[in-house]
Amino acid sequence: MLSTRAARVASRFASQMAGARSASTLIVAPHNGGELDSSISSLATAAQTIGGEVHVLVAGTGIDGAAAEAATYPGVTKVLVADNAAFDNGIAENLTKLVVDQQAAGGYSHIITTANNYGKNFLPRVAAKLDVAMLTDVSAILGDNEYERPTYAGNAIATVKSSDSVQLLSIRATSFEKAAPGGDAAAVEAIETGADADLGLTTFESAALSTSDRPELTSAEIVVSGGRGMQNAEGFETLLDPLCVKLNAAMGASRAAVDAGFVPNDLQIGQTGKVVAPELYIAAGISGAIQHLAGMKDSKTIVVINKDADAPFFQVRRKCIRCQVLSSICVSCKCCHVPYADCGLRNCR
Ligand SMILES: Cc1cc2nc3c(=O)[nH]c(=O)nc-3n(C[C@H](O)[C@H](O)[C@H](O)COP(=O)(O)OP(=O)(O)OC[C@H]3O[C@@H](n4cnc5c(N)ncnc54)[C@H](O)[C@@H]3O)c2cc1C
Repeated sequence: MLSTRAARVASRFASQMAGARSASTLIVAPHNGGELDSSISSLATAAQTIGGEVHVLVAGTGIDGAAAEAATYPGVTKVLVADNAAFDNGIAENLTKLVVDQQAAGGYSHIITTANNYGKNFLPRVAAKLDVAMLTDVSAILGDNEYERPTYAGNAIATVKSSDSVQLLSIRATSFEKAAPGGDAAAVEAIETGADADLGLTTFESAALSTSDRPELTSAEIVVSGGRGMQNAEGFETLLDPLCVKLNAAMGASRAAVDAGFVPNDLQIGQTGKVVAPELYIAAGISGAIQHLAGMKDSKTIVVINKDADAPFFQVRRKCIRCQVLSSICVSCKCCHVPYADCGLRNCR
């Protein structure tokens, strides 16, 4: 179901689209070794907002499952499968040529992908090849060439218009409602790609990936983040880690905590880190600098644990708890005194 704002945007968009050229969107699907990235559900919503034909491009090897799943998202009318090892590991040059070729064949009005490292890797190249501008971090679609995107570290929302013939967008996944897969499957079509799909400009050597049995940070329902106030790595291990286990939460961190080496930098949330919008965001020992807020202020409920009543976080009008984090972590809801694991503040909005 669309939120009130989404419904307003959709109605404005619908009136703008009346009489406009017919839209068609190519979603370049982010996936990891054949498993679709969770952002696909937001990309499907964004494409549906644009309207018209929606094709999903899935490229790489071992992608049959991903292609079959992509075909069941609402609005998707066709899935294009480029089954070729040249597209494994997101080699930017090879993927760019594939997308440009598909654009030549399909004449799409919009090409969209996720505003994360996957999109950053190839979309600027596609923009250069097509000689069009790339609109990054789109947080709302207002018309077939008009969008909103955050600027000044999320402190202002810019409305931008593009007059390019092809609209090239990276989508801020947390700003769009998640469409659910499982509907009637669209057609899945194989694309002919030969040996020349590999341009030979980049060779994949290896990937050093951190593995975790916790929820993925950018899609977790609950995120527990720590800052410099946790004092050291031990603070994260002994206080935040058990809380994450208890809440089935992903762990995040401020840049100060990451820079101090308390936790790895793939946990950083903010302007220069990851963007999250969970149901519940717990910030322990984080001041709430604007650069941190830029990465989490769309969270539905924010709980701040901080001993300083003047910390910037307290200016964000959410549930804030003023307390110390070092002896014990606050694990019960301030409103109903039920443990967060059971309440998660869902009862207390
Ligand atoms: C270009 C640029 C990009 C940046 N990008 C990011 C980014 O992506 N993400 C990011 O997070 N930052 C980013 N920063 C840094 C940002 O400006 C802040 O410096 C940083 O967020 C501060 O981290 P912090 O809140 O953990 O540390 P601090 O500002 O030092 O705050 C620590 C907080 O912990 C509280 N505290 C201390 N001890 C306790 C205790 N015992 N109990 C309870 N509370 C306690 C203190 O009251 C304080 O509010 C960026 C900065 C720049 C210039």
